[in-house]
Parts: sequence; C-alpha cells; structure tokens
Amino acid sequence: MKTWFHIPENSDFSIYNIPFGIFSTPSQSKKVGVAIGDYVLDISKAYDLGIFKSIDFPKSALEADYLNDFISLGKEITTKVRTIIQQELCNENSVLKTKKEAFIHQSEVEMHLPVLIGDYTDFYSSIEHATNVGKMFRDPENALLPNWKHIPVGYHGRSSSIIVSGKNIHRPKGQVLKPNTSQPVFEPSSRVDFELEMGYIIGKKTELGESVTTENAEDYIFGKVLFNDWSARDIQKWEYVPLGPFLAKNFASSISPWVVTLEALEPFRVGGPTQEPNVLPYLAYDGLKNFDIKLEVSIAPKNGDETVICKSNFKYMYWNMAQQIAHHTSNGCNLRVGDMMASGTISGKSEDSYGSMLELAWAGSKPLKLKNGEERKFIEDYDTVIMRGYCEKGGIRVGFGEVRSQLLPSK
Ligand code: CA
Repeated sequence: MKTWFHIPENSDFSIYNIPFGIFSTPSQSKKVGVAIGDYVLDISKAYDLGIFKSIDFPKSALEADYLNDFISLGKEITTKVRTIIQQELCNENSVLKTKKEAFIHQSEVEMHLPVLIGDYTDFYSSIEHATNVGKMFRDPENALLPNWKHIPVGYHGRSSSIIVSGKNIHRPKGQVLKPNTSQPVFEPSSRVDFELEMGYIIGKKTELGESVTTENAEDYIFGKVLFNDWSARDIQKWEYVPLGPFLAKNFASSISPWVVTLEALEPFRVGGPTQEPNVLPYLAYDGLKNFDIKLEVSIAPKNGDETVICKSNFKYMYWNMAQQIAHHTSNGCNLRVGDMMASGTISGKSEDSYGSMLELAWAGSKPLKLKNGEERKFIEDYDTVIMRGYCEKGGIRVGFGEVRSQLLPSK
C-alpha cells in the first residue's frame, strides 16, 4: 500500500495499522479518531465528506466519549470503515487530500480512555511468569500449581481504576506483614511493581448461558492495547490467600490509548508453545493463534533518561486469547462490548525478558542498574514506567505507541 500522506519511517501508525482511539482538542470535545503517522484523523470530518456513504451507520457513533457505540456496530461495519480510510489515504484523488483540518497533529490532542470498560478480567497465561513467581513464593521444584496447564487461570479485576496513558498514579497504602513479624502494619507499599501485559477489548456480546468455541472466539475481539497492571507486591503477599488478588492490584492499571484492531495484526500470526499435557477438548484449537508483538519496558527516573529494562514478546503466551475466551464463556458467563481482558504478565525465557520488577530483580535480590547509576529493586516515587510494543515483518510495521505513567508519592 502506498499512501499520499506523509508517514515517518518506523512510525507505529503506518498505513497498515489504522488504530482507533478517543481524542479531544481545546476546541473540540471527545470524538473517535484514527492515528496515522504523527497525526490523528478526525473521522467525523471524513464522514461529513461522504467517504463512508457505501455503509450505513450514524455519525453519532463517531461523536462519542467512548468507542463502545462504534464497536457495537459490529466488525462488518468497523472493518469497512478501517478499509475505506486505508483506501482513501492511498487514493491520489481522495477528497481527504483537500480537507487538511481533518488531520490534527498528535501533539495538539489529548487522548482519553478509549472504551467504557464494563468488566475486566486478568489472566495469568505466561508459563515463564507463573513459573518464576512459583519458584520465588512456593516450591522451586513444583513451581506451577497442578491446575495451571489445564486452566487459563484468571481473576475478575476492577474496571473503575483502569486509566489511560499519561495519567499518573499514587503509591498505594495497605496492610503489610514485615519479615520476621506476626502482626501486620498499615503503610505505603514499598514494593510497587509493574506488570507488562497486553489487553484486548471485547467487540461482540454473548448471552448468558452461551459458550464461545476457540474457533469463533476471535470474532469477539475488537482490538488490543498495551496494559500495565500496577501491583503492590508486599500487599499482595499478605492478602492473596485464599481468594487471590484484591487491593494489591485494583489501585490502578494503565493502558495505551490506541486500539489496534485484530485485522491489523493478521500478518503477524505465529504458532504458540506446545501444550503438554493435552488440554480438554473445549480448549483445543487449530491454526496460528499467537501474535509476534515485540514489547519493551523502560524506567525513567525523575529528571533522568529512560533505561530499557525488559524486552519481551506477546508470542510467548502459553494460553492464547481464543482459549481464554472459550474458557471464560465455558460456564455460560456472558461477554459485553467494552469488556477488557488482560493477558497476565508476559515473560520470556531469558532473564532480560521478564515482565515485572519482581522477576527482573528477583524479589529484590538482584537490583537493576539504571543509566544514571541508580539501582532499582521496585518502582520509586517519581519514576515513570513506559511500555512500548510493535510488530514488524517484511517492511510492514504496526505498533501500539506507548503507555506511560508516573508513580507519585502516597496521597
Ligand atoms: Ca496481572
């Protein structure tokens, strides 16, 4: 595809991407936009030019505070909208070429949470991550619990505290049991961590009682974002038995603002790891269901340069998204448009591919060196954590931009 629009080399937002998001400017309230190169295309202005006249949908779906109405139109419509935008950006005679005001530089817009998130589920689908955590906190010889290779383990999280990139968070306070003591104390967490994850947004609802097969599961995924599942390891350690994560996780999770559609990720499909023992029939799948998405995490201390501390890849996931959806609906639990699912921490085999400080600094025993000479065991006040992700193959690049948040002191 060759476009008349100027897109810088190595831009995440190439003509092959066309991700959707919600933006505003000082003079315009929230709307649906598409990222292209360094710009945002205001699709409602493109609508006024009549470029979508071959498909029937109301303009109100584009002049909304969230993508939910647009996503609810269904892939039949949203995929066509994306394709038409691509075609217009490649058509030398497009009316868009004469409509400069439809393109706004990304530095001039504010990006918002792209979807009104209904329910949020966090999986735990990286075998390397689950093994590392099991080694640290349980038995190094039996790091994985007996259910792990049979069930895409997950928990229901909290959607109200999912925030968009650029919003900062405060160090959480909570109950902590200090080493060699028997009574907990209440204080600011001293073990704030990130978790490198990817989230996906449900684009099609199911009815209560209905189950989705692994074969059809991807029809229910609108697109993906980068996901930082902020975690407080000291609070987690004391609270998580017997019912799992609670206040150690629900104080904030940060996501990238641009939703990259599953269609844009098609060229980057790869096979997943061998699943041994065999999974139960409802979790079996055919075809390539993993995606080669390169991921990295940086820490930027206050007034300091970024240091890349992790390079991982979404393709390492043991359980794929189709299996997660099949499992999630296997009991008849319904899905709604705007629900968010996250992968769980994405770690690889090598020590520099671990997706959390807990693993990278091995529970504080191997501090990481930053460029400015400082060391980190966990995240310090005023550190900014930045996650980036992109796919690249045969000269085609499709990226997610970034998710960044700064950790401020406790309120
Ligand atoms: Ca997590």
